Order: sequence, then C-alpha cells, then structure tokens
Amino acid sequence: KEFRNKIKPNWCPGCGDFSVQAAIQRAAANTGLEPDDLAVVSGIGCSGRISGYINANGLHGIHGRSLPIAQGLKMANRELTVIAAGGDGDGLAIGTGHTVHAIRRNMNITYIIMDNQIYGLTKGQTSPRSAFGFKTKSTPEGSKEAALPPLELALSSGATFVAQSFSSNLKEMTNIIEEGIKHDGFSFINVFSPCVTFNKINTYDWFKENIVSVEDIENYDSSDRIMAMSKLMENNGMLTGVIYQDKTRTSYENHVPGFKEEALNKQELKLSEEEFNELVAEFR
Ligand code: SF4
Repeated sequence: KEFRNKIKPNWCPGCGDFSVQAAIQRAAANTGLEPDDLAVVSGIGCSGRISGYINANGLHGIHGRSLPIAQGLKMANRELTVIAAGGDGDGLAIGTGHTVHAIRRNMNITYIIMDNQIYGLTKGQTSPRSAFGFKTKSTPEGSKEAALPPLELALSSGATFVAQSFSSNLKEMTNIIEEGIKHDGFSFINVFSPCVTFNKINTYDWFKENIVSVEDIENYDSSDRIMAMSKLMENNGMLTGVIYQDKTRTSYENHVPGFKEEALNKQELKLSEEEFNELVAEFR
C-alpha cells in the first residue's frame, strides 16, 4: 500500500501542506485501502496540487469545485473512497455554496480544508479566513471584514463530522483523517496549514500558542452539538480534535433507492452502441 509517488511537491520548504499530504497517505494506508480504492479531488490554490502528489486516482479540478466533482464520483462509484481537498480560499470563498450543501447532503466523502488564512498561490492576498485588520497587498490598511468561522459554519449546516487539526501534529491529523474516512457521512476537517512565505502572522508558533485540544477540556463530549458550538465560540474557533460526530445519521447514499445495491458504474448501459455514440457526439 504505497500512497507515495515520485512527484516532488512544488510547495515552499516548510509549507504546512506537506503534513497534510503525509497524513492522507498514512490514513489511507492505515484504513487498509489500496491506491486504486482512493480518489483525491482538489480545487485550485497551492493546496490544490495535493491530488497530484498522492499515489491514487486524482483530479485537480477547478476553483471551488472540488466538492461537486467528488460527489459525482461518489455517486458513480460508491466503492471508491473519496477525499476532497483545497484551501480556505477554495472552499470558503468561491466554493462556499458547494461546501454548505455538500455538508447538509452528507455523502460519504472526507473534505479537508488546508487553512492558511491567506491566498498563497497568488502571492499573499486576504482570504475569507484572514482576521479583521489583517494587512496584505490587497488590504494594506487592514482587512475590514471578519474571518469566516469554518467549524461553526459546518455545525450549523448540519455536519455529522467536524474536526480540526494542525500541520505540526501529524499523528493527530492522521487519526482524524482516518476517523473521517471511516465515518458514514460527510467529514469536514479543517487543518491549520501555515503559509510560511506570505503569512507572517499566523505562523507555526502563533498556532501553537493559540490552539486548544478538546482532550484538555474536562468532560468534553463530541456527540453533544450544543457543547461543540459553545466551546468553539468560547475558544475563538481554535479547538483541535474531533469536535463533533453524529453516528446516528447515515450517509446520503443509503437513502437513494437502488444506489446501495448497485453502483452506477456497475450497472449495464441501457443504450445501444449507436445511441451511446450519438449521445457522446453531442459533447464533442
Ligand atoms: Fe505553501 Fe504559502 Fe508556499 Fe503556497 S506560497 S506553497 S501556501 S508556503
């Protein structure tokens, strides 16, 4: 089970995305998958390159659209384990609508946001995760907008699995991704993944000083949605670990008639070869 390939990532030395790549590779191996069983779909941004750096089926899609592609894949082939990944700009700006609806749809997909609180690929502009007052080339006098809180958004959108980790904690991140893959439903995982080149505020040291593990909160109960929301708000969204999991609601696929029994890609084509060629010709 070798999820590493020979492609050298085109990320800056020290970028948090390296750990996310390693965590996905380890989690996939730990869950007993083979490379052919896994599909990694990504959006656009530095983090979007990740689909090319894992030995599995991969698709580097378009900006903010990793989730529609991932859901289509899952609908067509329910036997695939599908991971979607992208940056905070990808999933929480242009892709926000897809993120919210994928969450409430609850398909069996693991979605990882690599949250560096800036646009790295375009060389350092304010992202939806940048704090109020954050100075970049696009906001030289400081951002006038509040940062979007991803976990609170996920919880209020009906998420059944909400977790957060940090690139410095590979072990925790690997465990969380593994749990996300096993979860019967949509797993929303936000990872603090520092951009060492353009974000000089939200650095590794800054995250280390500010994050709080749910394991350090007395009597924390990850099945309690109200507790998850209130502890998140108390800690300014900086909690790490599995914040919330609802094991009682099953994934979308289980509610689609016939889907469970026979995946679309296994069903016999009900068109003649001629009809099929005609249909395909329309798209040429
Ligand atoms: Fe990573 Fe930032 Fe470099 Fe992009 S610009 S590869 S996010 S460190």
